Amino acid sequence: MIARVSLEIALRKEFDYSIPANLAGQIDVGSRVQVPFGPRKILGVVTAVAEESGHANLKPILKVIGAQTLVTPKVLKLARWIGEYYCCAPEIALKSVLPEAVRKEDARWRERLFVRALPSVGEFPKLPKRQQEIWNLLEERRELPLAELLELTKTTAATVRKLEDRGLVSITSEVSERDPYARETILPTQNIVLNPAQAVALEKINAAMDQRHDEVEPAPTTAATSTFLLHGVTGSGKTEVYLQALAHALEQGKGAIVLVPEISLTPQTVERFKARFSSGKLQTLVAVLHSHLSAGERHDEWHKIRQGRARIVIGARSAIFAPVEPLGLIIVDEEHEHTYKQEEAPRYHARDVAIMRGQMENAVVVLGSATPSMESFYNCKRGKFTLLEMPERVDDQKMPQVRVVDMRQAMYKEKGPPLFSPQLKEAITQRLERGEQTILFLNRRGYSTSLLCPKCGYVANCPNCSVSLTYHRIEQKLSCHICGHNERVPLVCPEPKCKNPAIRFAGTGTQKVEEVLAKLFPKARVKRMDADTMKRKDDYRHVLGDFRTGKIDILVGTQMIAKGLHFPNVTLVGIIYADSALHQPDFRAGERTFQLLTQVSGRAGRGDVEGEVFVQAFTPFHPAIQYARRHDFVGFYEQEIEFREQLKYPPASRVALLTLKGRNEEKVKFSADHLKRELEKKLKSLKDLIIAGPAPAPLLRAENFYRYQIMLRTRAMSALSRELAQIIQSLTQPEDVTLAVDIDPVSLS
Ligand code: ADP
Ligand code: ZN
Repeated sequence: MIARVSLEIALRKEFDYSIPANLAGQIDVGSRVQVPFGPRKILGVVTAVAEESGHANLKPILKVIGAQTLVTPKVLKLARWIGEYYCCAPEIALKSVLPEAVRKEDARWRERLFVRALPSVGEFPKLPKRQQEIWNLLEERRELPLAELLELTKTTAATVRKLEDRGLVSITSEVSERDPYARETILPTQNIVLNPAQAVALEKINAAMDQRHDEVEPAPTTAATSTFLLHGVTGSGKTEVYLQALAHALEQGKGAIVLVPEISLTPQTVERFKARFSSGKLQTLVAVLHSHLSAGERHDEWHKIRQGRARIVIGARSAIFAPVEPLGLIIVDEEHEHTYKQEEAPRYHARDVAIMRGQMENAVVVLGSATPSMESFYNCKRGKFTLLEMPERVDDQKMPQVRVVDMRQAMYKEKGPPLFSPQLKEAITQRLERGEQTILFLNRRGYSTSLLCPKCGYVANCPNCSVSLTYHRIEQKLSCHICGHNERVPLVCPEPKCKNPAIRFAGTGTQKVEEVLAKLFPKARVKRMDADTMKRKDDYRHVLGDFRTGKIDILVGTQMIAKGLHFPNVTLVGIIYADSALHQPDFRAGERTFQLLTQVSGRAGRGDVEGEVFVQAFTPFHPAIQYARRHDFVGFYEQEIEFREQLKYPPASRVALLTLKGRNEEKVKFSADHLKRELEKKLKSLKDLIIAGPAPAPLLRAENFYRYQIMLRTRAMSALSRELAQIIQSLTQPEDVTLAVDIDPVSLS
């Protein structure tokens, strides 16, 4: 027998090895193996097993890693699709489907020594004082990890061994699972009685699961509409629908994957899922996969899934590769979130991978959002997805009143635009008087967003990137939010001919909001939540805990506070500058603004008192702002799709973004021009293809690299990907210029 192995070094090639007799029976598709490669020993994954090979003189596989095949054939197939569609080497795609913590040769369960009291036979001996103390504790607890026992009794292992010699206790080495949520106490919950909209949604999802369950092979015709889009306003009870759909998958003997954006993987979210399945007849472990786990925790969570003990997986982007088998249901919550897209190779979009995996494994896919992506809603309109709508909040809670404040007006009355309009100021005062809470949102951290000289026009820019530096007042520094460069704040204009001492800061960040609040409302308890204040792992949890228990009156923050938070006492949300995201050179700027405003607004009025939202804007009549004010997603979609169709932007087409990067701008530009000519020559057969560029990237220079882009648009992306892979392979870039291909990019910067 021989095995075909994909090696971890990206070679776009697979190699045959013979299976030695002592390993026969242990090797299957998906096994991790160690093989000789030249003088080295390398790890790889078996992608096929066959009787014989076309090659002679095969070297034997050296060993197998792990008792179980680590990559299931289904996940292997998914990895192949990712390699092809996202135009990357199959080895890189394969690597991404197995977490590092599982892939490594020495990854294993942690073993610990446990001490256990044994039933005593005969007369109990008289023990020395120390040993008696240990015994007393053990008799009470029955068993303890050795380390903990030593800690509690302040004694040494030798003393415990003496008890073992007397036959009173046993000391054994056992696997001890690392559980990242071990410290949480979880109270079981029951299904909630659904309201009519929820009931309809659940019924349709369950019916689709039943239909899949009865089919043996995926039927190609139904497979395409296996996907649901659950469009439910914030607080409409989507999560409850997910929970009951998961229960249905378990009843069918199947498992499920729930994807949530990394940022919403708060302990509360995880707890809701764990609590529902912690007892009862559908009891199962719920595995959690996200980037803050230690390697050991990740290893254990992954293997709990592989062993079938955890039937439900909740996690961020890469959890879509979890080895759940059989898989009945995939849920992608907040499907519009851009964090589902991986920004390095393989540049996959977890939502799209979820849809593909659902098709391959005949599982039902549910995408949920209060503000669906243009792509998903478009797919509903074209009959590819089934739309489920939950337009109202549970318990008849009203959607918050959204008031748009025209900041141009406010500006005339005072000198320069104020940070807080009189309306917002008044609203905050009211909340403080009533003991209700306020959330203030601004999408920019730091104090001021630029330092400029009004006399000569100098702006403090990053020496490595084409952006201005942000002033951080507390730390007294200017810093670049792209590369992290820091420098001292100059006292006079640095232009040698100018030296004006009256340099000014312009633009506002969260630090300044915090400071102005302290002046306006000296008694209010204000907390800021952004990347600068949330540095340690537990910071987030602490602040949210304090907010929940009413120790904070006003929470100021960036994106971090925009999503998922559910605080019944928050009755006011203020958005300081709604248009900041509108003026970016990206065709999705409007969509992003609409989503952000809707999400942030959704934080208000989640309790008994109706919520109020103030949106401060300099372009108050922009459609993204006006449709968000009216909570009108469909209205926004209708006007936005027109523009996308006219200009052939997604979802009316698909985009491939090619970025060339290098330290020498001339060389980068030259390579980009050359690539463009090659593309024009070789892609003639793709009829609807539009090639735009090369043009400097919106962020021309980042971390000292110049970047030029070519944008390709077509409806036939699979065909384009195939062609691109070949063109790229046949083309050699100059040594110091690199080319990155991003299929379906979510950001054009
Ligand atoms: P979403 O995920 O759409 O934002 P959630 O599922 O978090 O909404 O629901 C918001 C709150 O309403 C939660 O506290 C949830 O327990 C509760 N809830 C959900 N469905 C119902 C229902 N049918 N009846 C009463 N309360 C519900
Ligand atoms: Zn920089």
